[in-house]
Amino acid sequence: MREVLGYLKDVEGAGPYAEKLLQQDELSPTRGKKETTDHPPIYPTGHATKDSMRDDRWKVYQLVVRRFLATLSTQSKSLRTTLRFDSGGEPLVTGGTVVTEEGWLGVYPYSRRADEEIPNLSEGDVVQVIGKEILSKETQPPGRYGAGRLITVMEDLGLGTKATRPNIIQNLYDRGYVHDDPLVPTEKGMGVAQALTDFASEIASHEMTAKLERSMDEISEGKISKDSVVDSSREVLRKVYDHLQSSETEFADIVWEGIRTDETLGKCPESGHDLIIRRNRKSRKRFVGCTGYPDCTVTYPLPQRGEIIPLGTTCDACGAPEIKVLGGKRPWVTCINMDCPKKQEQREAAERAKQQEEGGEGPSEQNAQELQKSTT
Ligand SMILES: [Zn+2]
Ligand SMILES: [Zn+2]
Repeated sequence: MREVLGYLKDVEGAGPYAEKLLQQDELSPTRGKKETTDHPPIYPTGHATKDSMRDDRWKVYQLVVRRFLATLSTQSKSLRTTLRFDSGGEPLVTGGTVVTEEGWLGVYPYSRRADEEIPNLSEGDVVQVIGKEILSKETQPPGRYGAGRLITVMEDLGLGTKATRPNIIQNLYDRGYVHDDPLVPTEKGMGVAQALTDFASEIASHEMTAKLERSMDEISEGKISKDSVVDSSREVLRKVYDHLQSSETEFADIVWEGIRTDETLGKCPESGHDLIIRRNRKSRKRFVGCTGYPDCTVTYPLPQRGEIIPLGTTCDACGAPEIKVLGGKRPWVTCINMDCPKKQEQREAAERAKQQEEGGEGPSEQNAQELQKSTT
């Protein structure tokens, strides 16, 4: 520990703090609630300077260094004040927290909140009402889970291990069941989940998977035999398989419905039919076609690479449906109309930027080029 602190004492930002810790006679790292054996703790293994690495890497390095120093630090203490008022029989509450002893927060500012100073009042004090207002609000749905939060939830439910959880989530992206972070399910993803719940409920529940994970632990601890777990799992899967086989068509219908919804981008401006992703029979290149074909022959080109997510919105400049294209450096949002006045503007702006910067390519221009390439 002292060795690590030794090479951290010159690190920009956190160095003086490491130096201070080194002067203490005793160092005792805090421990988490759970001991894990499949993943050693992360700690800094060397000294680095800001100039020697990219910006984002420096941030990660700082995080690791500061986290390490925080585990060797003293507790932080804060003071919470709560004030209760009575206004014409209506109870009102306010409160605030201030840090009174910095402790580890001195080196690990990421989870620190701004101090909320509360006026010093005593019981029985009378305060003046400056104004009042009645607000009409609606309850909001809970926020979507980000990948980080999802890992915590999986841990609570006993799903996967520290090493496998990120891969399980990555699988959801790779199979097109979710996109973005926080995760948004695709219609296909919801279709698969629904079909599994309807026709294979035994393997669709997290209880079943968690039970299997527990059984694995019990086998390794010698509490139960491998054969008994294999036998009972086989039993369950056989039942599920029989059920799936007899309801193959219904299962596929639900999933196909989801896939079709994912491929519906919006309404055709000419005929009002759905616009869907189609593929050219010969070239296999994808494009947007109208379901009113052959009466309506409206088509739009599509970029050939990247996953396409319908946004359900329309372009405010031309009225064509907007899509999000995933893959490449970062996702981009565009309407599907190549002749959109907004795209023309973007191209001109990018052109000007290019002339000024010589050789520098703006992201919007790159997208426009990619779209153009895909149409040829
Ligand atoms: Zn049409
Ligand atoms: Zn447009």
